[in-house]
Amino acid sequence: MSNAQCFELIFLLFLFGDLFLKLYLDARQARSIRLHRDSVPKDFASAISLQAHQKAADYCLERIRFSRIEHVVDLVWLLILTLGGLISFIYRFYYQANGNDLLSQIFIVLTVAFLSALLNLPFQWYSAFHIEAKYGFNTMTPARFFKDLLLSAVLGLVIGVPLFAIIFWLWEAAGALWWIWAWLAYVVFNFALLWIYPSFIAPLFNKFTRLPDGEVADRVNALLTRVGFATNGLYVMDASKRSSKANAYMTGFGKTKRIVFFDTLLAKLSPIETEAVLAHELGHYKLRHIIKMMLFSFSLSFVVFFVLDWASGSSWFYEGLGVQLYLGSSPAVALILFFEVLSVFTFPFSPMTSILSRKYEFQADRFAVQNSDGKALVSALVKLFKDNASTLTPDKLYSAFYSSHPDAAIRVDAINQEIANASKS
Ligand SMILES: [Zn+2]
Repeated sequence: MSNAQCFELIFLLFLFGDLFLKLYLDARQARSIRLHRDSVPKDFASAISLQAHQKAADYCLERIRFSRIEHVVDLVWLLILTLGGLISFIYRFYYQANGNDLLSQIFIVLTVAFLSALLNLPFQWYSAFHIEAKYGFNTMTPARFFKDLLLSAVLGLVIGVPLFAIIFWLWEAAGALWWIWAWLAYVVFNFALLWIYPSFIAPLFNKFTRLPDGEVADRVNALLTRVGFATNGLYVMDASKRSSKANAYMTGFGKTKRIVFFDTLLAKLSPIETEAVLAHELGHYKLRHIIKMMLFSFSLSFVVFFVLDWASGSSWFYEGLGVQLYLGSSPAVALILFFEVLSVFTFPFSPMTSILSRKYEFQADRFAVQNSDGKALVSALVKLFKDNASTLTPDKLYSAFYSSHPDAAIRVDAINQEIANASKS
């Protein structure tokens, strides 16, 4: 067996192995939800009605049924792109029409991105206007759906084309260590995006208004002073025009840091609960989670660029994935193949990355208990679990693969434990 055939076989093993693993995890999750559908877990029984619990169960089960179809379609699409010869066809088309230059590389990437987005469209539509709508979450109109789509496409072009152009140019011009330069360009681009996101990108999609004076603002300002956190402003975002689900987040860094509350969060939580949720988010900043996660992701991308350099320099990589580069090398084809198949090889290892993020969630909860009101944090979380129809009874293995947060019951137990510890000392 040649190297290319060997790689093709490994690729197919991982591809179908992942599909079976995903379907198995979905089945476990569905079973766990169905098993607990008829009674609210005792920690939540006083706050969540059986009716709300069953609605969450039905919603989660419907999302699982939907994701099964997505898994299969994703697999078929990846096979069409690679071994089915679609990437190969697109490569030949642009090389014959335009030759081997930077423009061809950009068009190859854009064509694959466009086709993938087109395939994704009916899924996004069904998710918003059938599933989310059926359970009363969707508040988006079809007009807004298409406006968002168009805006994202334009942004993707404005941001993506220069980034790809720089990477492809470095690929050809920067010699053997091009991948280190490309990685640096990628890191700088990410920082630039973080910098401009709050003031330039987010306002294209949503309206941001200053948090009005009142109890929430008073509490939040007192909390910020207490923990020593400087911000460039407190904002309310009109998230309710897309979904009734609630959240809060912090964005930007350095002097552009702002705190953003979804209007849906302010509508659902009391002022003290809002303060407790924010205290949790501030915990992530104060305990340096954000910066550690960023360093982790940049180191990981350094390794990814190194592997990209190695794979793209080997003919087995292209031939094993159904592409013959007989018209000349193509950074675009290498990049697309690489990132299309990367997740196939990394999915089985996803529980390793969520271990870290879950550890941080416990630490941020502890920070919130120490700097705010622990009981209010519990009642806020319970309200959010209920209103966002999160399942309270997930399967452990499923959570290990997919959840960045600890399971609801485990998290609430840990917070109650922190409250008990705090009152003792
Ligand atoms: Zn968190």
